[in-house]
Amino acid sequence: MNILPRVLYLFQTLPILLPHTFFAQLRTMISTYVWNSKKPRISMALLTAPKQRGGVALPHFWHYYIASHLQRIVEWTTGSATRPWVALEQATARFPLQCLPWLPISVQKSLMDPHPLTQTTIRIWRTLTRGEGIAPFPSPLMPLQWLPTFSRTLTSTNPEGQTIPPRPKHFLTERGPTPCNQLPIPHAKSFLTRFHHHRLIQTLRSHAPIQDYIRPLTQFEALVERGRYPSHCLSMMYDMLQALTPLTSTSRTNWERELNHTFEDHQWSAICQLAHSSSTAVRVQKANYKVLTRWHKTPQVLTHFAGQGTDKCWRCDAPGASPLHIWWDCPIISDFWRSVHDCLCDVAEPPPPLTPEYCLLNHSDAPPEVFRKSIAVRLLHAACLVILRFWRKPTAPPLTVWLQEVENIRSAEERVALLQGKTAEHLQSWYY
Ligand SMILES: [Zn+2]
Repeated sequence: MNILPRVLYLFQTLPILLPHTFFAQLRTMISTYVWNSKKPRISMALLTAPKQRGGVALPHFWHYYIASHLQRIVEWTTGSATRPWVALEQATARFPLQCLPWLPISVQKSLMDPHPLTQTTIRIWRTLTRGEGIAPFPSPLMPLQWLPTFSRTLTSTNPEGQTIPPRPKHFLTERGPTPCNQLPIPHAKSFLTRFHHHRLIQTLRSHAPIQDYIRPLTQFEALVERGRYPSHCLSMMYDMLQALTPLTSTSRTNWERELNHTFEDHQWSAICQLAHSSSTAVRVQKANYKVLTRWHKTPQVLTHFAGQGTDKCWRCDAPGASPLHIWWDCPIISDFWRSVHDCLCDVAEPPPPLTPEYCLLNHSDAPPEVFRKSIAVRLLHAACLVILRFWRKPTAPPLTVWLQEVENIRSAEERVALLQGKTAEHLQSWYY
């Protein structure tokens, strides 16, 4: 999709405030294109999720927009020499821009100049600090020297005589505020220093409980604290936002309920990743994803939504034909799976389990990076593909059709391997 780089270019070069309606329109246009103006069958939230979480990694433009502003904050902090605009924005500000995000809102407002781009970034930043994840307020990175109640008498110096930027951790511990006379500052016992120390602690307490200032750093804060501009910064920010977004996958819930098996998060992640990466044949990837998301409707589901027709299996006439029945439990399809499993036992070592978790969802105890290169996973893909070809037919697919499908997958993967110069890996998967 070459739309994404174009949009990202605009997000990064024009960091202006965009209304939510703009992103709503964008989502509608993309949804209309993807589903050809028909009713969506998979939610946009799931489609834009990363592949390892059950999505197809369709761009989430709102997250990319926020990521472009987070990138600006990283650039303010690292003072990226390759970005002249950092110096330009800094020249128009009365104080270091890198301090701005970590200060209380009241202080931000008093210090900030009416620069439209700075204001936009800070406005978006404030929406992030309300929640968990990126940098909930208050942050351990708060630059105390910019608080109105901070006095220079509280500044400590290192053995070389250089001033240490004051942070909450210098004044607070898990047990509470550090007593003034234990701080490494000059004149710690004087009345005036103790007075300023008391004012500072009271100010911090007025914004949040003391423990909140010394919490562990989030991933974003740790990145800023490191002080180096990371490579692929925008993608990193985007991945961070995507990972923090809660996602409920109904297909995962439904599979777990029907299989009576609860997958751990990492197991489901491996299943989803495998569906996209186990074969280079696009047709196989598409079929895998459709099995995963229970795309194909079974009699039970159609009867439930249409309110008419029969919910009987089209092969064995059993009532209430659920997806698991059509894919696995139906006596007619069970014979097909047993035949496939017999062949699998001849090529896979140790013999694989004859379970729907393994055969349908490719949930295996083997490491995903090993399993995805095996011949077994390709034979299973071919089995799912031929079941789809025999969808709504009263018989199970013959083994000859299955073998022909295996050959189709092999030749498709061979063509991709030749184009990519990965013939050795292709041969390794299929013949060794
Ligand atoms: Zn049946």
